[in-house]
Amino acid sequence: MKISAKTKFCIVVGDPIDHSLSPAIHNAAYKSLGIDDQFVYLGTNVKVENIEAVVKAMRNMKNFCGLACTMPHKIEVIKHLDEIDEIAKKIGAVNTVVNNNGVLKGYNTDWLGIVTPLEQIIKLKNKKVAVLGAGGAARAVVYGMILKGAKPTIFNRTVEKAQELGKEFACNGVGLDDVEGIKDFDIIINSTAVGMHPLENKTPIPTRFINESQVVFDIVYIPYETKLLREAKKKGAKTIHGIEMLLYQGTAQFELFTNHKAPVKVMRKILNKNFKL
Ligand code: NAP
Repeated sequence: MKISAKTKFCIVVGDPIDHSLSPAIHNAAYKSLGIDDQFVYLGTNVKVENIEAVVKAMRNMKNFCGLACTMPHKIEVIKHLDEIDEIAKKIGAVNTVVNNNGVLKGYNTDWLGIVTPLEQIIKLKNKKVAVLGAGGAARAVVYGMILKGAKPTIFNRTVEKAQELGKEFACNGVGLDDVEGIKDFDIIINSTAVGMHPLENKTPIPTRFINESQVVFDIVYIPYETKLLREAKKKGAKTIHGIEMLLYQGTAQFELFTNHKAPVKVMRKILNKNFKL
């Protein structure tokens, strides 16, 4: 390691943060490109009420070049920044902050984590997409689908939230139990917390609505393969795991932080190793 006073640093903040794979992924990428003397990536726990202080410190620390925000900071950080990218504004959340000589600009790369792996296997234009969930992640999903010309419908446990989000993005919002029609959708994207601990033995919708002509993307990545994906595979559907979102939101963030093209294979290798794939 050749860290010096010229080395720039990026920090991922969240609460909790210990589980974050971002430091391992980004540092491996720096090393593979031979820029690990120029950049280092760290992580630390920050309480939501302290994000303003972190942003202030960033503005005053020239080498603090990038801030990555996970839960619960993605919305709260916005009001402390100098500029917000148009996409992040529409999604209403920031997961990436870049320091341009003390001017802090917020971006959202989560939507790329959705769109990139999907476009590798299906054209999105005019496809009917069932977006399960209406929380923070679902906002990035809906944005990405609309940008790519797909036709999303939001299905959420709290129907009012589905309707509100639907109104904002000019698409339908219905209840999560209103799923009969899902069998006619081309793509199903789970962006609820169902499938993740402690709900790992549940699926967000009954899997009898899934068939072999569909693509099922579960953005939950712990466990690596959720019950929804296991059952979708059994039905012959194409499946996309949540680590794909993790990977591609990370490659986009890497490029914003470093201005270097992200070494996708290296970053994937770290993820695979972590999930023992
Ligand atoms: P959030 O804002 O808290 O939203 C949670 C969503 O899950 C809401 O729509 C909520 O419905 C729904 N939900 C929670 N428990 C449910 C249950 N028992 N039955 C039905 N619906 C339920 O969270 P988020 O930030 O959007 O994250 C959602 C999921 O995406 C999490 O599992 C997270 O780990 C995952 N995620 C993955 C990545 C990645 O890189 N792969 C990135 C971000 C997030 P209500 O509105 O009715 O409460």
